[in-house]
Amino acid sequence: MRKIDYHMHTRFSADSEASPREHIEEAIKKGLNEICFTDHKDFEYPFMPFDHDASLYFLQLKQLVNEYKDKICIKIGLEIGLDMNYINEINHYIESNDYDYVIGSIHVISKQEFYDPADFFKNKTKEQAHLDFFNETLTCVQTFDCFNCLGHLDYICRYGPYVDKQINYDQCNSLIDEILKTLISKGKGIEINTSGYALRDTAGFPNYDIVQRYYDLGGRIITVGTDSHTSDRVGQHVEDVNHHLSRIGFDDVTTFTKQKIDKE
Ligand SMILES: [Zn+2]
Ligand SMILES: [Zn+2]
Repeated sequence: MRKIDYHMHTRFSADSEASPREHIEEAIKKGLNEICFTDHKDFEYPFMPFDHDASLYFLQLKQLVNEYKDKICIKIGLEIGLDMNYINEINHYIESNDYDYVIGSIHVISKQEFYDPADFFKNKTKEQAHLDFFNETLTCVQTFDCFNCLGHLDYICRYGPYVDKQINYDQCNSLIDEILKTLISKGKGIEINTSGYALRDTAGFPNYDIVQRYYDLGGRIITVGTDSHTSDRVGQHVEDVNHHLSRIGFDDVTTFTKQKIDKE
């Protein structure tokens, strides 16, 4: 199974200072076969602009793709914040740029994000907040076609003012099933986001039960990404994820060029 890191942020994201070159060097050091830069674009984010200079991004990254072409395969992607308030803008933005791969992520719901002070959680039980999050995720995956994989499917458990932030999967499983079935019917995949290992020790986002469910429902489009905002995290836990993916039944991970799946 190929080793890939398909979720990396650099100084082209508002929340990272990382150098793209250092990410590449780290990926080579860790023996990865392929990486994809996926800097942030969110049309509206409370407190912080997540804007994206696409022309400078492509200009600088294409030079690196070329410079390193004999050492590692590098793709140029984007993590787009799926937001029901900006459907046309998001679709137009993705169409206007030549990304190899697009992660669709839910970062903001009705102008509310999940970090502190996180109005999203105010006056909500944990169960209600989680159901709201998965309902919005379902609406987004039904509405948008411009992405290839859904980002960090159950990462809402990282946030909220609750002592036990864990998701009650018995309560959310039917909604998660609908999300997975919608993705599969639309030819979309999921990512395993290894930033989840910092919280869970033994799994990323989503947990492996959900990955198994995606596989059992027929899903075969899967990427692995670290969500690195610093170079030391590039490639972290990728081998462990690959081990779990083999156990679940996957032959390989999925890679993309110009938003089309690479065929071996
Ligand atoms: Zn994200
Ligand atoms: Zn990210």
